[in-house]
Amino acid sequence: MSDAKKLYIKTYGCQMNVYDSERMAEMLGASGYQETSTPDDADMILLNTCHIREKAAEKIYSELGRFKGLKAENPDLKIGVAGCVAQAEGQEIIRRQPMVDLVVGPQSYHRLGELEARAGNGVKALDTDFPEEDKFDHLASRPKARRGPTAFLTVQEGCDKFCAFCVVPYTRGAEVSRTPSRLLDEAQGLVERGVREITLLGQNVNAYHGDGDTLAGLIGKLAQIDGLERIRYTTSHPNDMQDDLISAHAECDKLMPYLHLPVQSGSDKILKAMNRKHTGDEYLRLVEKIRAACPDLLLSGDFIVGFPGETDADFEQTMDLIRAVGYGQAYSFKYSPRPGTPAAEKSHVEDAVKVERLARLQDLLTSQQRAAQQAMVGREVSVLFEKTGRLDGQLIGKSQHLHAVHVVSPASNIGSVRRVRITDSQTNSLTGELIG
Ligand code: SF4
Repeated sequence: MSDAKKLYIKTYGCQMNVYDSERMAEMLGASGYQETSTPDDADMILLNTCHIREKAAEKIYSELGRFKGLKAENPDLKIGVAGCVAQAEGQEIIRRQPMVDLVVGPQSYHRLGELEARAGNGVKALDTDFPEEDKFDHLASRPKARRGPTAFLTVQEGCDKFCAFCVVPYTRGAEVSRTPSRLLDEAQGLVERGVREITLLGQNVNAYHGDGDTLAGLIGKLAQIDGLERIRYTTSHPNDMQDDLISAHAECDKLMPYLHLPVQSGSDKILKAMNRKHTGDEYLRLVEKIRAACPDLLLSGDFIVGFPGETDADFEQTMDLIRAVGYGQAYSFKYSPRPGTPAAEKSHVEDAVKVERLARLQDLLTSQQRAAQQAMVGREVSVLFEKTGRLDGQLIGKSQHLHAVHVVSPASNIGSVRRVRITDSQTNSLTGELIG
């Protein structure tokens, strides 16, 4: 449709924002928009934002500043801000950047069609409600067009944990689980469009409790779908790793042996101050239990250094925990105060100390990640091929442990799971050869 309006969406932050951007693009597709990869020819620009790190909001304001010229050239251009910064800042965004026409929170983007229709020509549209109705009941039905072999599927939103450093309970609201029947429909639709691997998303995904089903129950039902070959889930809280979910890692062939299980610190004093509601020892025993059920599982973690009150001794306990666990992958950050969170009011660790601790921690994690990759050399793994690689005749895919694998293979293997022998390990990826 040549006269389709052009939509440019830029997504920041977590996989859940990636999923939300897909659904928002589908919503606006129903209003006649087609996605474009550049803001220069857009009729609407939508920034789907993240509020997890310091300066997140400031980054959005400077990004918006870049569109001043485009708006001057095309006064009909609509500019919108969605996601967690929209939820946290709301009206303030329009006050600081008057060229913004529309602000919509993560819980009310099912109203994007009417907000878009209302916004523009000086009229501002703002919606950062936590509505009664379930937005998923009001989203546009998903398109039928073929798509790539992997997809995200939001199964749970919000969080009731209130970790002292985190804005999510304030920007995404209380925990809400979608119904299994709706999720099975959506997953079936994705498989019919070529998807072979689905990653189930939630801020606290293992707290899922849809119509009495636990996450393990939902995974068991999804595993019945013909054509769906792989299931993953993220992000989990240690306190919600129920026994049935641990058993699912032993019993469900379609559930991949990869688990992202943030711990943040190894110091009980800091874990308490973070309101994580578990100790370092409880976490280690949980890891033992999971590995007993699934010895081949690759564990991934999250760490924050320099949380208020963290001493050298606390930090050493974090390093000890990491050495005890041995992570195949991990994400680590300096603590950054988030407005409105309990920890933000506390006295801060000097930035130079944070930088030094983060460097030591990342050296250790990188050495563990490299060792985990090196241990794959000579092994047979299964790889779901997703796209063509850098080199001619090469494809890239992900192994069951979520390692990126480069393999010389016919392009016809894109979208298929194939057996591969790993022949080499690089910085962040593996190389292998087809064996079946
Ligand atoms: S469990 Fe995760 S999302 Fe929930 S408050 Fe803690 S860090 Fe934030």
